This record gives sequence, C-alpha cells and structure tokens, in this order.
Amino acid sequence: FVHQLADPQVNLDTLLRSPLQPVATMKLALPARLYGSERPNSRGVDLNVAAERLPLVEALKVAPAAPVPDASVAEARAAMEALHAAQPAWNDVPLAERCAVLQRTADAMEAQLPRLVALLAHEGGKTLGDGVAEVREAVDFCRYYAAQAGQRLAPQALPGPTGERNELRLHGRGVFVCISPWNFPLAIFAGQVVAALVTGNTVAAKPAEQTPASARAFVELLHDSGLPRDALRLLAGPGETVGAALVGHPRCAGVCFTGSTAVARLIARTLAAGDGPIVPLIAETGGLNAMIVDSSALPEQVIDAVVTSAFRSAGQRCSALRLLCVHEGIADGLCEMLAGALQELQPGRPADAAQSWAVDVGPVIDAEAHAHLGRHVARLEREARLIGRTPLPEALRDTHIAPAAFELAQVGDLREELFGPILHVVRWSGDVDTLVDRINALGYGLTLGVHTRIDERALRVAERARVGNVYVNRNMIGAVVGVQPFGGEGLSGTGPKAGGPHYLYRFCGEQTLTINT
Ligand code: GLU
Repeated sequence: FVHQLADPQVNLDTLLRSPLQPVATMKLALPARLYGSERPNSRGVDLNVAAERLPLVEALKVAPAAPVPDASVAEARAAMEALHAAQPAWNDVPLAERCAVLQRTADAMEAQLPRLVALLAHEGGKTLGDGVAEVREAVDFCRYYAAQAGQRLAPQALPGPTGERNELRLHGRGVFVCISPWNFPLAIFAGQVVAALVTGNTVAAKPAEQTPASARAFVELLHDSGLPRDALRLLAGPGETVGAALVGHPRCAGVCFTGSTAVARLIARTLAAGDGPIVPLIAETGGLNAMIVDSSALPEQVIDAVVTSAFRSAGQRCSALRLLCVHEGIADGLCEMLAGALQELQPGRPADAAQSWAVDVGPVIDAEAHAHLGRHVARLEREARLIGRTPLPEALRDTHIAPAAFELAQVGDLREELFGPILHVVRWSGDVDTLVDRINALGYGLTLGVHTRIDERALRVAERARVGNVYVNRNMIGAVVGVQPFGGEGLSGTGPKAGGPHYLYRFCGEQTLTINT
C-alpha cells in the first residue's frame, strides 16, 4: 500500500474495502440460449491432457494441403457476374434451410477439428492452443449467426392505421465481397462469409494471400453441407489485382473487410469512385491498444494478462496489447516481473509435431513482416530502454521475433500499429482522465485493458475511452462470439461488431411493404 501515496486518486479506505478479485478465467461452456439450441458453445480441448492432445499432434504429421491457385482478374470478373445471376435464387431459399447449412458446417468443423488445427499450424504458424480456439470461434460464428438469422430476419409486422398492413422485410443486397486477413484465416473468413450468406447474399470470398488453404477448407465444408456451388466463389490472389477487380466491379453490392486501416481506406476510395449504386463497407481494422494499470492492481494478475494479451499468437491479433501504461508507483516492480515472465515463454515451431504442444510463441507470418518488425526492434534498441526479452534459439532467428518489452517516455511516442510480439511500456502518474485522453488521441479505438481494484475508476475509464471493447482485470484478447461482440471505432473500423446482435442487419437490404386492405 505504500505505492498508493504516489497516486492521489487511490484512497486507502476504498482499497481496504475492495475485495480481492479472482483471476478471470475464460469459460469453456456458454449458455445454450445464446445459440438458440440446447447445444453449448463448442468445447475446447485441454492441451494438458495427453489423450486430448494426441489427435492434434498426429494430424500435424499429415502432409500440408496442396497450394491454392490464384484467380486471374478475368476469372474474378466472371465470378461476379455469375454470383449476381445466382443471388435471387439463393435469397429465395427458405431462411430455415440457409441456417441449416450453417449448422451442418459447424458440425463438420467439430468433427474435423484435428485436421483444421493442423492446417492452421502449417499455413498460419498457429500454436495448437490458438488453433483449437480458432476452430471453436469459426463454429461459434456459424451457430450464432444461424440463431440470430432465425430470430431477426423474419418479416416484422408494424402497427399502422386501420385499413393498412405494414411490414418490414429484409433481403440480401446482392453480391457481397468478403476480404479476410491471414491472422484468423478460418474464423474471420468464416464469420464474414456466413454472415453474408445467411442474410441472402451470394459471396465472392478473397482470402489473404498467405492463407488461402484454410479458406478453401471452409468453403469445401460449406459446399459439402449443402450450400449451392454458385452461391459462393473462392477467389485467391493478391489484393492489388483480384481484390481490386472484385471491389471495383459494378455488381459489387457490399464489402466486408478485415485488415489494415490503409487498405480499408483504399477500398473506401475505390467504392466512392464508381458511378453505380452506393456500396456499403464494413471494415474492421487495426488498433494501438493500451492497458491502464493503476497502483491498486494485483501484480500477478496484471502480468498474466499482459503476457497473454501482448505475446499470445506472437502478438498478431488486432486486439493485442501494444502499450502498457503502468502507474509510476508500481512500475519498477512490475517491469521486473515482466522481464521474468518473458524469460519463461517458449518460442518454437507449432507445425513440428515433436514440439508443437509445448510452443507458446510461433513464427511471424512471413519474411516481409519479419523484416518490418526487425527494423522496429532495431530502432527501439537505439531509442528506448529494454525491459526484457525472450531468449530466441539461433535456429528460429529467421522466422521468429523474440517477444520483448521496451520502455518509452510517453504515450504519444507510439504512432504506428506493429503487428508482432513487441510491447511498449510507459509510466503514468496524476490524473487517469488525462491518460485516457492521450490514448484516445492516438485515433484508434479497438481494445482497452484496465487493471484496478477501484470499481468506480474502471467504469470511469470505460466511459471516457473511445474504444469498442474494454476488458477489466483480465486479458484483452479472444473475444467470444455472442458474449463479447468485437470491433472498434475511429481508425479501428466502421462497426458493426462481429459476433454481436447488430451484425447481420448491415448485410441486408430493407423493404417496407404497405398494403391498403
Ligand atoms: N477477435 C480477435 C480477438 O478478440 C481479434 C481479431 C483480429 O485480430 O482481427 O482477439
């Protein structure tokens, strides 16, 4: 409690009255009502149990998938015409059948979990834990959007004057172009595509160049589960050619994009330049996500949350922690603990069956990302103080970036989102509102972590912060579908939130039908 003296907003009385909060744990089974069925959210695999681990490790030994050929620009354009022609028929398929396709696809993913986890490890460098979580998330998107569509898309009768019947009806807009990122090649791809399909759109799906095989696996499962072939086309290839041809095509009726803020802007410009219909863009982009730790926080809980938030998935999540703001009263102690925790992380190759289950941190996605992050680390080594770093074996130097934490002088010193396992730490003191304002001024608005035992402070920070997802006294990644709707504002995206109750509406056209009876 000595540290409280340095923090005028923490009052000793309040602290003594605050109960110790239990360390937050992610629950595996979620209420069935969220999914509109008795089936709980898909279950995880306990990697500490050898019998549960075994099928995953065995699946890694099967040869990786064959490469996915790139589409040409001509193929992309032809696909848009074909999808446009097929849309009215797919929109006419009864809603219950469209939902059933999603449920059968989810069943198939659960049945094939080891194969899909292996694919994610080989293609995306995912650890087994991340792979299992990702397949679960893809399953949840299918089940949740199916349930939401069932509840929300039916025609709605509206009250009106006598002698008139009024009804609000929703329909697919046309051809939706879905462009997804490499960091969740299955879950985000699946979430975008099934949201667009279940609402009655046909879909041109452009996966990230680095991870088309995971996308192809999902497309095959959808088709095997009864989705008509002409309702969905997979068009792999570079954004500059294939992506541009799809987005710039006159048949494009909507775009759903997850990726960088710069590419979202490019898409918005392309859409604005056309002289056809006004095309909506759903964009989920990056974040310069901060965590605020005050001097009442529980240090062990903070370190656990920081390690998960900043270094899990090698920091390659848009939700990941980039900027840790620690109250100066506890900063020295916390930095020492962080340095210790960094020593313990286990880097390795998740796709190698011999070591996979023990790996905490896999490679970064490709050589370009490796070089970019390497340059940033070199700059930090010159300009900032190194707090701690995970030892990286020589054999991993070309593919991995060592998880590390550096101390910066102030919040504003961090300008650019860095998509890797690099954490920036600043000390703060004085008024927490000023700190929140500085974080808001970065312009992004995705996730924010808060660690405090002062409940009023946590709520105050949440109210003032311009971010989409606030996590208090826990880690700040791994939003659960239907439980923590995910997505931000400002430079972080347009909304609506993925895995939330308003998401499907944005994929729909609306018609008001008024009949004089
Ligand atoms: N939904 C993911 C999470 O909560 C992040 C998605 C992303 O990185 O794009 O961690």
